Amino acid sequence: MPDAMVAARASDKAHGTQQVDVAVVGAGFAGLYLLHRLSKAGLTAVALDEAGDVGGTWYWNRYPGARCDIQTIDYSYTFDPELDQAWTWSEKYATQPEILRYLGFVADRYDLRRDIRFKTKVTEARWDDAAERWQLTTNNGAPVSCRHYIMATGCLSAPKPPEIDGVKDFEGKVYFTGRWPHDGVNLAGKRVAVIGTGSSAIQSIPLIAEQAAHLTVFQRTPNFALPAGNGPAPEDRKTFFESDRAAYREQARQSMTGVPYPQQTVVSWQLSDTERRERFERAWAAGDLVHILTQLWADQGVDFDGNALIGELIREKIGAAVKDPETAAALMPHDHPFGAKRPCLDTNYYATYNRPNVTLVNLRQEPIKAITAGGITTGKRHVDVDVIVFATGFDAMTGAIRAVHPITGRGGKSLTDVWAQGPQTYLGLTVEGFPNFFMITGPGSPSVLSNMAVSIEQHVDWVVDRLAALRDAGFTTIEPTETAQTGWGRHMADCSMVTLHRLANTWYTGANVPGKVQGLMPYTGGVGPYRSICDEVTSRGMLGFKLTGPEIAAQCNDGEVVRLQPDVRLVLNLLASLNLPPIESMGAQGACAFVNEFNKGRPAGRPIGEIADGTLPGTDGPLPYRVYKPAAPGPHPVVVYFHGGGWVLGDEQSDEPFCRDMVRRTGMMFVSVGYRHAPEHRFPTAAEDGYAATRWIAEHATELGGKPGPVLVAGWSAGGNIAAVTCQLARDRGGPAIAGQLLVCPVTDCSFDRPSYNDNATGYFLTRSLMYWFWDLYCSPADRTDPRVSPLRGKVAGLPPAFVVTCEFDPLRDEGIAYAEAMAAEGVPVEQLKAGGHFHSSFAMVDVVITGAPGRVQMAQALRRFAGLPPEVSLGDEHSHGHASPGHRIAAAAS
Ligand SMILES: Cc1cc2nc3c(=O)[nH]c(=O)nc-3n(C[C@H](O)[C@H](O)[C@H](O)COP(=O)(O)OP(=O)(O)OC[C@H]3O[C@@H](n4cnc5c(N)ncnc54)[C@H](O)[C@@H]3O)c2cc1C
Repeated sequence: MPDAMVAARASDKAHGTQQVDVAVVGAGFAGLYLLHRLSKAGLTAVALDEAGDVGGTWYWNRYPGARCDIQTIDYSYTFDPELDQAWTWSEKYATQPEILRYLGFVADRYDLRRDIRFKTKVTEARWDDAAERWQLTTNNGAPVSCRHYIMATGCLSAPKPPEIDGVKDFEGKVYFTGRWPHDGVNLAGKRVAVIGTGSSAIQSIPLIAEQAAHLTVFQRTPNFALPAGNGPAPEDRKTFFESDRAAYREQARQSMTGVPYPQQTVVSWQLSDTERRERFERAWAAGDLVHILTQLWADQGVDFDGNALIGELIREKIGAAVKDPETAAALMPHDHPFGAKRPCLDTNYYATYNRPNVTLVNLRQEPIKAITAGGITTGKRHVDVDVIVFATGFDAMTGAIRAVHPITGRGGKSLTDVWAQGPQTYLGLTVEGFPNFFMITGPGSPSVLSNMAVSIEQHVDWVVDRLAALRDAGFTTIEPTETAQTGWGRHMADCSMVTLHRLANTWYTGANVPGKVQGLMPYTGGVGPYRSICDEVTSRGMLGFKLTGPEIAAQCNDGEVVRLQPDVRLVLNLLASLNLPPIESMGAQGACAFVNEFNKGRPAGRPIGEIADGTLPGTDGPLPYRVYKPAAPGPHPVVVYFHGGGWVLGDEQSDEPFCRDMVRRTGMMFVSVGYRHAPEHRFPTAAEDGYAATRWIAEHATELGGKPGPVLVAGWSAGGNIAAVTCQLARDRGGPAIAGQLLVCPVTDCSFDRPSYNDNATGYFLTRSLMYWFWDLYCSPADRTDPRVSPLRGKVAGLPPAFVVTCEFDPLRDEGIAYAEAMAAEGVPVEQLKAGGHFHSSFAMVDVVITGAPGRVQMAQALRRFAGLPPEVSLGDEHSHGHASPGHRIAAAAS
């Protein structure tokens, strides 16, 4: 019998079991929208919720001051433009009662309550492989049998129990912000303790302080908070929204956070102190988390130094708001980058500490020893209280999922066991070994790092669309493959290397729950990119999923959906969206002009000591060069650098961001050579110019401000080719002495047969056909085996030590590896960096491809080693703080 024919809410009388196509656990934002979509898709469904009504988060969190912290204009359903029109929010940040009313309004409008069983907790779930159905046990009423089991149980719905001894001995009243009594609490005249200073505490403390006789706040970890500036929705946002609601919503869906703000392009060090302060003051006044988290400067979320500037400015604000310097100091966060832990929005939070009836206890200095019958004892004092409010947060992301125990998948595997080392998912939506099982905003989805209304709608749409499509095609089970899930884990890890989230111990990482396995749980790659990845899974034939059905051949399109580094993917998508004509179709002059124009739009590179231009005598006349010097006094070792561009494009300035970056990291001087180009100057001009320039630079190192003695050579792409050839010529022609060579994605051979030429023939900017064009312009077929253009064909013994960089998605990958291996086989000391997920331009795109930075650190370390310098390199970004950052050392956060 087709599932759709099984009536909703119908009970199988014989077994007393409710039979449905889909069981949904939770009736919050996610559960409600699921019911609506499932019913429209013709799938029978029931939602079960422990709560007494709809609302989820907004049903449970009724503490004083509870509000959303994403502007309500954005924190709303968007699936139905008529619903959008039918509801008007009264404030910029609506209160809990208003949001709860809204969700009730939605439930009524779409007649959803009839399919919800309230006060019903799902306690166990078991996959029945023979029946291909899930069997759910509940604590109230009939168990449920369903084809598909969707957990819409919420990321922040399992309150964390207090970890302090003696709570049960306390004779006063105990409340939890996440389970606040529905009829309110009268705190007038009471001595109140609030434990925790996360978002709920920061919202409630000012209001509790107004009522209580005395309020003592026990803080383990201070949080960054900024004034909400609540009131009517701001005019600029309202105007933007009203001008074109559909476009506004679409922009939100494609954005990084689920709120329509543009991507910033200016980085912190391009702005003056005054400009940075102006931007900060604007953001502070805007009272908007997404604004301050994304609109200050482009590197605020990815670069430690760019981020540290904000922490300083906020600490200044705290100092100005709080009169007592000791209290102010205790309220200032120092242990995590701004935004690496969710910042809070407040109304009078810091000023509340100026009230005579409020005391802050810094648990870092005096930890709680016990809760007694009459109050709380710390290492330094005893505080008598009548009421304790625990605002200690949630067992986030996985707490509610794991609370259903066991969830038993295929072969009797329990989800708790499968996740013993941390959650593993595909897309944050599914788990291998658990067929027909879905999570909404599960670990591995953007969830808590986004406007969750937007993420929830995207997850629900994707899941329900898939269920409907599977049913229509005759499939009855869907399950991700191991390859896909492992790939998603790797992609999650790649993404987490881009942002600073990994540098803080927070509830995002599970650090607030004792004994919880730690790891960054939400997807940090952004809402828009995540959406496009989910769409790609579908468009590539349900990539990474196994589908089966009784009367249809099983389908398994195995694979990983994202193999590129996340920022490389963004860059390539952007380039693809520009629909540029192939470079080789522009002609040499047109291509040069295009590259010059293209380069104007990129970040120029950070300041260094000095940049100077000159000319040197080449074999047939002067050659231009550009010198990049470190800020520290010289003389510095000299690196002769050759730019990329296929022997056709570029000049001594065209790799400027790379040169600047390497100068900063190595503390060495780079001399970039303007060698002559094809088609005017064909083989072997570039090679001979390179060699002649190296010789001249080595001989004139002192005049240039460099250190006399052996030079180093470096180059990218065709420049890597010239660097490699220069080393061979220097060996064979009696000098100059070269201490080491850095070859970044070098051309080393004229063969196009290696697999990387096919694997990466198109789609990664440097195409096979562009390489053919470069070769044709530079070198006739008869000359191509000459070692001065194919150094792999030359003698490779006796060369200077080498560091060879290759990128996974580069046609030149395999010839670079072949050259490194050939040198190593001849006894040349060789190190290789095989950069996974990168493309030909990854390392040259400084401050654009952020994930290229660690590779450049390795390159700098190699150059310093070659030059006989101590290994320290100037890292100059978040990597300098690495995993030993304070964020990794701090104890678990209070909430
Ligand atoms: C105080 C607070 C403020 C927030 N503000 C924002 C904001 O401004 N913007 C934003 O994007 N997000 C915010 N969030 C996050 C918020 O949780 C989500 O925005 C959203 O409400 C989640 O909806 P949901 O349906 O996924 O889960 P929830 O709303 O958490 O609903 C899950 C439901 O599942 C039920 N449930 C769980 N386990 C079981 C079980 N085993 N059996 C039966 N029922 C079960 C729970 O009772 C609950 O009702 C906030 C969270 C909190 C706590």
